[in-house]
Amino acid sequence: MADLSVAEIDDLIVTSQDIIRSPEKYRDICRYKKLATLFFEPSTRTRLSFEAAMYELGGQVLGFSEASSSSAAKGESVADTIRTVCCYADIIAMRHPKEGAPTVAATHASVPIINGGDGGHNHPTQTLADLLTIKLEKGHFEGLTVGLCGDLKFGRTVHSLVHAMCRYPGVRFVLISPEELKVPSYVKLPLKEGGVPYDQTTDLVSVLPELDVLYMTRVQRERFFNEDDYVRLKDSYILTSEKLTCAKPDLSIMHPLPRVNEISTEIDPDPRACYFRQALNGKYIRMALILKLLEESA
Ligand code: ASP
Repeated sequence: MADLSVAEIDDLIVTSQDIIRSPEKYRDICRYKKLATLFFEPSTRTRLSFEAAMYELGGQVLGFSEASSSSAAKGESVADTIRTVCCYADIIAMRHPKEGAPTVAATHASVPIINGGDGGHNHPTQTLADLLTIKLEKGHFEGLTVGLCGDLKFGRTVHSLVHAMCRYPGVRFVLISPEELKVPSYVKLPLKEGGVPYDQTTDLVSVLPELDVLYMTRVQRERFFNEDDYVRLKDSYILTSEKLTCAKPDLSIMHPLPRVNEISTEIDPDPRACYFRQALNGKYIRMALILKLLEESA
C-alpha cells in the first residue's frame, strides 16, 4: 500500500466506479496485452479476479496456479522466474508464501509487478477491493469505526487494510483477536505515529454495537507452526445472527474469504453481509489497477 498515495487510491476507486457504470468503454482497452498470474500459493478470488479483469479489458492471460507446476519445483529462484516471464508478459500478478518475494521480483522485473499476497505480510489488492466495497457500501471512509476480528497476527489482508485506512481522517480501529493472534507491532506503528485511535480487545460482542464495519478473518492455518495451537484458536470467533442483534442496522460485514467457521452461513442473506459483493468488487478494482500500471509503464 505504501506504493500508492491516497490520491492514487481515490483515483482507482473512481475508475472502478466508471467501469461498473460503463463496462463497454473498457472492453478493448488492453487488446494485445498479456497478464501473467504467477501463484506459488493457493488462491481462488485473487487469481481468478485478476484473470477475469484482464479478459474484461480485452487482454490475455498466462501463468500457473501452483508452484509445483512451475520451475520453482526444480529450484529456480524468484529472480530467474521473473526475468523469464518478463519476456512473455506486459504485467505480472504474483502470490508467494515468502514475505517480501514481490519486492525481490520487482527489482528484477522490466514490467509492473503486483503483489497478490506475500506470506503473512501484505495483500494490497485485497485492500483495494475492501476500500472500493467500503466506499460503495458507506459512501465515505472518514469517521468510520472499523472492527478487525480474528487472526490479526498472520492475516495479511488486515495488515494492508490498516496501512491504507489509517491515512483517512477520523477512522478508528477496534482490533479484536485472541491474545496469541494480536496485530504485530509493525502494523500498529503507523497508528501510533499518526495518532490514529484504536482499541484492542478479545471480546467481539462487547464492541459490536460501536462498529460501522466488521471485517472478519480466518485463522490462517498454513502459517501456524503447531497444529494444536491452530485447533485451539480456530473457532475463537463465530459470527451468528444472535450476536448481530446488538449491531448497528447499517453495519457492513466484510470478509476477504475463504470463510471457514467465522461467519455462520445463516448471515449470508442479511443485507449487511457484503463479502460476496466484496469479491465482485475485487475484479473491478483489479481492472482499474491493471489499466493504471500499463499506462504508467507504456
Ligand atoms: N484470501 C485472503 C488471503 O489470501 C484471506 C485468507 O486466505 O484468509 O490472504
